[in-house]
Amino acid sequence: MAVTRTFSIIKPDATRRNLTGAVTKMLEEAGLRVVASKRIQMTKEQAEGFYAVHKERPFFGELVDFMISGPVVVQVLEGEDAVKRNRDVMGATNPADADDGTIRKTYAESIEANSVHGSDSDENAKIEIDYFFDEKEIVG
Ligand code: ADP
Ligand code: MG
Repeated sequence: MAVTRTFSIIKPDATRRNLTGAVTKMLEEAGLRVVASKRIQMTKEQAEGFYAVHKERPFFGELVDFMISGPVVVQVLEGEDAVKRNRDVMGATNPADADDGTIRKTYAESIEANSVHGSDSDENAKIEIDYFFDEKEIVG
């Protein structure tokens, strides 16, 4: 299996509860390596652009407001089959449906405030990494 990269966000509900380290530990224990990380306050424009694929969905406005409600930690993760590995440790979008031992089952507050984002394909991982990071900021 090839070593690949994915993009992760520790969302405002998690940073607010001081869970950056706890979430990162679960990512690392799942075999992912944090090769870039920064804590940022997203602007409305940044959040709207990032979630543009969801702009027709009824929850889009609330999702953007939630994502700018506090700081987030954006990360590049590296590991074997990183996109799937990360999606597996994240768990289902709705924490009520997430498996035991996943980040969302352990920490998410709701289907919206679900503690983490993770890319859903290698193609989107590249787009999302490029949205937040310069290649120089990523050190594997
Ligand atoms: P995932 O983050 O698991 O890839 P989606 O890409 O479908 O899920 O949705 C993006 C984000 O939008 C979710 O992580 C969650 O924060 C929010 N979201 C998804 N579905 C809903 C919903 N029905 N109501 C409110 N927020 C939602
Ligand atoms: Mg998604």
